[in-house]
Amino acid sequence: MIDTHCHFDMMPKPEAYIRQRELVGDIVIGMTNLPSHFQMGQPHLKGYKHIRLALGMHPLLATERKIEVPLFKRLVDQTSYIGEIGLDFSKEGYATKDDQIEVLHELLSAIRGKKKIVSVHSRKAEKELLALLCEYEIENVVFHWYSGPVDLIPDILAQGYYFSVNEAMCLSKNGRAIIEKIPRERLLTETDAPYNERTNIRAALDYMKMSETDVFQNFRSLLNRIKA
Ligand SMILES: [Zn+2]
Repeated sequence: MIDTHCHFDMMPKPEAYIRQRELVGDIVIGMTNLPSHFQMGQPHLKGYKHIRLALGMHPLLATERKIEVPLFKRLVDQTSYIGEIGLDFSKEGYATKDDQIEVLHELLSAIRGKKKIVSVHSRKAEKELLALLCEYEIENVVFHWYSGPVDLIPDILAQGYYFSVNEAMCLSKNGRAIIEKIPRERLLTETDAPYNERTNIRAALDYMKMSETDVFQNFRSLLNRIKA
């Protein structure tokens, strides 16, 4: 299985979790919500073949932890994976909109032109986020748990971007309408655990009528883009 968006650093026993995933051969990309979390977690990932840690700065922490932007810049060459970054203009994030945009400009300028795979959070800010990603010519982006307008999906696809889908999306009407608009070769799987309660990747694959191999091939082609 491939989990392109997981927060194992937020689990009660991260090491037991990733050891188990590695043992069964799963590929797991661990998101971080702050650069300091990445810095703390990275040494624990040594020796793992299929588990990676992404450098992130969650939009909802932009105001509170702006001070960590320089650390993000210092750490940016230590991993090929970036996330979770993005914008959140939902009720929860609306008040910090301006800080989020300011921070995101900094993060995108730090990764601009670098070969990275970038997992983004776009809740209620899908259009604004896409515009910024385009402005900085960011490639290899994965829209995680997309819940935005269906009519924006073609524009996201036109940039060559991917979507990561979890079980919860497959169970909701809105999620299903979104999945329907995405070509199979742009679909990836995720759990968003432990924040998400419906994390069964097998169930998501069954719903999408895709095999593990299909998703593996999609992930492979994404990886090839940063290796080229
Ligand atoms: Zn997440």
